[in-house]
Amino acid sequence: MDTVSKKQRSQIMRLVRSKDTKLEIRFRTALKKLGYKYRKNVSSYFGKPDIVLPRLKTVIFIDSCFWHGCSRHCRMPHSNRAYWKAKIGRNKQRDKKTSEWYKRNGWIVLRLWEHSLHKNLKDSIKKIASVIRNRQKGRKE
Ligand SMILES: [Zn+2]
Repeated sequence: MDTVSKKQRSQIMRLVRSKDTKLEIRFRTALKKLGYKYRKNVSSYFGKPDIVLPRLKTVIFIDSCFWHGCSRHCRMPHSNRAYWKAKIGRNKQRDKKTSEWYKRNGWIVLRLWEHSLHKNLKDSIKKIASVIRNRQKGRKE
């Protein structure tokens, strides 16, 4: 049951997409500086993580506040509220399942809110770096 017009939806998608992309590029640049080998938007991986560090068995998801239903920033569009509520609810469920799948299979899953990257990219990167360092230590032992 799709009650949102195609035009309306693509407008919203575009809005959200372009913001995400710029942020992701900044994020990846920072990650690269740290010297991590990663792959981006890997569709062959379950749930299409934004970033995969295959050797460290770590996947990173950058969750946009809108599409993933951030409790602080997700503002439902005024029209077709029920549609958006259901859609975002499904996204959240899928996120949960995806994270569980990776954990079950021995992966480290990092989920970052878009807003935390906006607010403080450096801190987010630091957090990731420390998780990765712990992972590296664990692998050597
Ligand atoms: Zn948010």
